[in-house]
Amino acid sequence: MSTTHSLGFPRIGNKRQLKRALEQYWQGDITQSELEQTGKKLRAEHWRLQQQAGIDLVPVGDFAFYDHILNTSLLFGVVPKRHQSADGKIDFDCQFRIGRGRAPTGPAAAASDMTKWFNTNYHYLVPEFDAEQQFQLSDLSLFQQIDEAKALGLHFKLVLPGPVTYLHCGKVAEGVDKLSLLPALLNGYQQLLDALNAAGVQWLQLDEPVLALELSPAWQKAIQTSYRSLQKGQLKLLLASYFGDISGYLPQLVDLPLDGIHLDLSAEPCDLAAADLLIPPHFVLSAGIINGRNIWRGDLTKAYQQLKPLFDRRGDKLWLGTSCSLLHCPVDLTLEQQLQPQVKSWFAFARQKCEELKLLQQALQNGDTQAITSYCLPLKDRKNSTLVHNSAVQQACERAKAEKADRTLPFAKRIKLQQQQLQLPLLPTTTIGSFPQSSDIRKLRLDLKAGRISEQQYQQQIEQQIAKAITLQEQLGLDVLVHGEAERNDMVEYFGEQLQGYVFSQFGWVQSYGSRCVKPPIIIGDISRSADMTVSWTSYAQSLTQKPVKGMLTGPVTMLAWSFPREDLSRADIALQLSLALADEVKALEQAGIQIIQIDEPAFREGLPLKQSQWQQYLDWAVDAFKRCSSKVQHSTQIHTHMCYSEFNDIIAAIAAMDADVITIETSRSNMELLGAFEDFAYPNQIGPGVYDIHSPNVPQLDWIKQLINKAAGKLPLQQLWVNPDCGLKTRSWQEAEAALAQMVQACRELRQELA
Ligand code: GLN
Ligand code: ZN
Repeated sequence: MSTTHSLGFPRIGNKRQLKRALEQYWQGDITQSELEQTGKKLRAEHWRLQQQAGIDLVPVGDFAFYDHILNTSLLFGVVPKRHQSADGKIDFDCQFRIGRGRAPTGPAAAASDMTKWFNTNYHYLVPEFDAEQQFQLSDLSLFQQIDEAKALGLHFKLVLPGPVTYLHCGKVAEGVDKLSLLPALLNGYQQLLDALNAAGVQWLQLDEPVLALELSPAWQKAIQTSYRSLQKGQLKLLLASYFGDISGYLPQLVDLPLDGIHLDLSAEPCDLAAADLLIPPHFVLSAGIINGRNIWRGDLTKAYQQLKPLFDRRGDKLWLGTSCSLLHCPVDLTLEQQLQPQVKSWFAFARQKCEELKLLQQALQNGDTQAITSYCLPLKDRKNSTLVHNSAVQQACERAKAEKADRTLPFAKRIKLQQQQLQLPLLPTTTIGSFPQSSDIRKLRLDLKAGRISEQQYQQQIEQQIAKAITLQEQLGLDVLVHGEAERNDMVEYFGEQLQGYVFSQFGWVQSYGSRCVKPPIIIGDISRSADMTVSWTSYAQSLTQKPVKGMLTGPVTMLAWSFPREDLSRADIALQLSLALADEVKALEQAGIQIIQIDEPAFREGLPLKQSQWQQYLDWAVDAFKRCSSKVQHSTQIHTHMCYSEFNDIIAAIAAMDADVITIETSRSNMELLGAFEDFAYPNQIGPGVYDIHSPNVPQLDWIKQLINKAAGKLPLQQLWVNPDCGLKTRSWQEAEAALAQMVQACRELRQELA
């Protein structure tokens, strides 16, 4: 009998109970022990839920109040100096001081950096290693969880990040080689393994998603060194890879003293038969057959066909698992009340994915496929559904593919025409789009949804917000204005709700970081636009001012990256559909007299594949998608884009190929360092490097802003530069936004004079 297991389960709770409890605790509304009780209850509930769904081996160690990588740091005593307590002990609040910079108790100090967990939308806290970093078993709360699992009589495995992935995720001071810390880290892992042996744990799953990357020889060797040197004793070791194909490394891995290897069978195509031949018969081959990254009902018939030969040969040495942790998936589909029943039957959330593993296990066991055949019926129905297929969209895509996506006049010529129309001063000032989203705006939307106010009242109130934003920008003397995005709950959801092909869940929350969760829209079918989405708000704003107002759209690559995509169409094709829908909106804005249109692509970089050899292919279609929605405009219409991050060096050629007339980027925090990329590459179009950090409530100093602009002017011709904050202002208060923008405009005025 093969074993079913999940690689990890969401910890936030089906209704975000953990989020609530955390925020109450941070506000002082509940005690530490109340928060800990909530954690304990959620763990027990999630284990029970998985067991009832048919999981044989439940994960322990996947829970975290804030972040599981942070937990690993605490486990080994990796605490940045500024967060260490006088007695050297790790208290409960330490995780929040590291994660958020402050906690109900203990000193406040800058939080650790957060970064994306591989290509997911989950953010972990980057471990900070010093040159002499020691790793000693320190925080033992993991062992309490083991005791809890034992007390419940669970059949469990322990789940932790593997040493190489953990080391890879961390950062060291400049000049220190991270790999030089490996021996010390392995010492810590050995202490852990010894303690797990003493605690009688049977299985340990060590997660090594680094194997999905193209590792340098030194890092490949680190895998060998680690798994050869660790003495596992009685413990059985499952090496878990995920997020990509690891075939290239398999020949080396199968010689390691392991008890099993987990393969992700859904992230990338993988030659399962070849892997099966390589993996020795005494190893467990854990087949990550159910996709942990998306919300679609699994095609169990196909899975059965794939796994049957392996099962016949391996029997109980074949395990059935989720491709990766279910952390990246919402908890429970049964809570959804508002999805059309037909559409709902196409989905499976975390709990349902566990049930799928059970169904598959039974079918393999009995050789009876009846249950899985009927489970897969909705998939057939989906194939033919008119909710999915729109032949007009498909034809438009085919036509588009045959056409060029470039603007017909080169930048150097069209910028002159744009300037003739816009008459902008040297160093034009603008903002990134959103103005403060106060709680009354959010309430307005809730009131509208609940029917407490009419559509008309809603419109009036939003128009008031727009007028307020325009008045403020005119008073401040900004050159290119925005309407402020008051009508948008979220930059993806707002458009998704107006496009055909999208649906929305009520409880489809996924943890992004700490207590923060996102509810990604779901792309179920071909995407089309049936009406204007932004034109009336933008035109209204433009009617209030003589200055140009920028239209504001979310780009196709970001729309795709922040949604759950369909799987029967390539990402490139979905992006193309989104792009064509957005192109119509661009046209409509232009026809309404809007001269500048910004198409935001903050997720452009994060879409890069994990394997660098696949980057170019992604960049090709991503750039193409951007161009298709931005190129069919008059020469004099100015296209802007915005990206809020600072690593451009390695994709600068693709950024330039997008051929936006103006790009605004994040540079204030890195002190304009990243402009180096634009200097070496001789970026041809205009750039607005952010001159202050909108994430901070502090009002930027005049001299500081001037110094940054001067620095930028040292690297790029003045005529190429714009002046703007580094991102949207929606998280700031009106007072903060006004004060900061006033400084920005003033700094710019002084510089213009000095330069003249
Ligand atoms: N236009 C958006 C805003 O200003 C951009 C947000 C983003 O970059 N994430 O809010
Ligand atoms: Zn931004």
